[in-house]
Amino acid sequence: MTRDTDVDVVIVGAGYVGIYAVHRLRDQLGLSVLAFDSAGDVGGTWYWNQYPGARCDIESVHYSYSFSEELQREWRWSERYAAQPEILAYLNHVADRFDVRRSMRFRTRITSIVWDDDAVHWRVGTDDGAVTTARFVMSGAGNVSLPKKPEFPGMEDFRGEVYATHRWPHEGADLRGKRVGVIGTGASGIQLIPVIAGEVEHLTVFQRTPNYASPLRNRPLTDDEYDEVVANYRDIRTAARQNFMGITADPARPSAKGASEEERREVYDHYYQRGGFHLLISSYQDLLFDPESNETLAQYVRDRIAERVEDPAVAELLSPTDHPYGTKRVPMETNYYETFNRDNVTLVDVRSAPIERVTETGIRVGGTDHELDVIVSAMGFDAFTGALLDMGVVGRGGLSLREKWADGPRTYLGIAAQGFPNFFMITGPQSAVALYNNPSAIEDHVEFASDAIKHTLDHGLDTIEATSDAESGWVRTVEEMAQTSLFPRARSWYMGANIPGKPISPMLYLGGAPAYRQICADVVEGGYHGFDLSSTSALVG
Ligand code: NAP
Repeated sequence: MTRDTDVDVVIVGAGYVGIYAVHRLRDQLGLSVLAFDSAGDVGGTWYWNQYPGARCDIESVHYSYSFSEELQREWRWSERYAAQPEILAYLNHVADRFDVRRSMRFRTRITSIVWDDDAVHWRVGTDDGAVTTARFVMSGAGNVSLPKKPEFPGMEDFRGEVYATHRWPHEGADLRGKRVGVIGTGASGIQLIPVIAGEVEHLTVFQRTPNYASPLRNRPLTDDEYDEVVANYRDIRTAARQNFMGITADPARPSAKGASEEERREVYDHYYQRGGFHLLISSYQDLLFDPESNETLAQYVRDRIAERVEDPAVAELLSPTDHPYGTKRVPMETNYYETFNRDNVTLVDVRSAPIERVTETGIRVGGTDHELDVIVSAMGFDAFTGALLDMGVVGRGGLSLREKWADGPRTYLGIAAQGFPNFFMITGPQSAVALYNNPSAIEDHVEFASDAIKHTLDHGLDTIEATSDAESGWVRTVEEMAQTSLFPRARSWYMGANIPGKPISPMLYLGGAPAYRQICADVVEGGYHGFDLSSTSALVG
């Protein structure tokens, strides 16, 4: 049955964005809101990615909301890096605490978001046949939520079981005693592989590009440690927000290539031992910008792989040489390399000979059939733009977002796009995301967008829309910044290069979180500089 509902704001998604956006817009600004998610409950990426070993690579004390001091005080993380079930439990707790579910529709997929210029609102269609009209749309559709399409012929012929990390069955999958093949060695595959290797009969890992996986060093958090975090949370959050990635880190030394070999070894040893992103962000400042400096760290990690993997030929296959360290998101690992020392694990190089096809009984590579009972796909996502383009967004004059972005995303601040009034992308393409701790980035963006909505309404205006000039300027800034970095040297989802046919273009602002926050603050300070604020009768700003 079709029904029309009118709300002030439609929110896309019920993950970190949707939960906070409902609270902020409904409870703090008094607006009517409705959020949609195709999932059965809150959680976003943490609802879907329930594969064995799924865990966050950002420390749990940072990978959480900071908007409520009470929430911060009452939640207790059990590990340094939280596993998926604990993050999902946290998001359920937040959803209960702020009673957001009553403003959410689950198992409901958005199929169209169309701007009506006459009515000055968006018409949001959903797969239950309903239409919701909204003055504003805030999208938290997710940057790594739309999976990459399977690329191999014969998938439908396979007689065994097929799973994907991004849609792991919530009831689990019994892999015991089975011959399992995993395609993909990004963050998801690298977390899954060591966890399942011990229970399967045989594990075949199909690797196209090796990664500089670096140790996570997860461990339980003691009560004393956590009490100290809670006591100092305000300072911790302040320090984190001043850091490039939005987490606390040591002040990095200026240049890796300027340091002596002994010093570098000491520094890299220290941060390899400390774990997580510290090897990249607490060691040297020029690693993402200077190829020689970067190579010192790349070689350091290759040396560690050679130490940890017994068979030199396998170690070499696991050692990346085609891209600089950190230009693909570094997967964080626990016992990943040691997994290849097991008798029941085989590494298959699908770079020199790509996967030809899936057969009834396995996967064929370079004329050799690998017999399997189970195929697991961990092949990544159509990141940043995929989920946004999948929703059928059509702006002013009937121009679709897909048409507008045919040559790559064009945004202002990664939050807004010219021709799409009252439409806010939370952590959208070209924002300071992916390298910026997601919950902090999300809080920043939701606050920016909800303040912009409030500003528009408080001034009796109808629309707020990025100007063409501001958008062009931002696209230039993002591109210039990418060119000064090493990121264009990798075929990564940061550059849109992991999806065949997708235009290659920088998907993130690389100036770091503090610079980005300052730019956004200046835009607000300047009366929403770069935006046209208008009423249906008069152009104001
Ligand atoms: P990903 O990093 O894009 O990795 C996909 C893997 O599949 C790559 O190894 C890729 O090889 C391979 N692949 C793709 N198409 C292939 C083909 N046709 N033949 C053979 N191999 C193919 O995806 P992901 O591992 O799902 O991770 C995506 C992002 O999600 C992460 O970078 C991270 O931001 C987030 N994530 C985070 C965590 C965490 O917090 N720890 C965990 C999981 C995911 P190529 O490199 O050659 O393309």
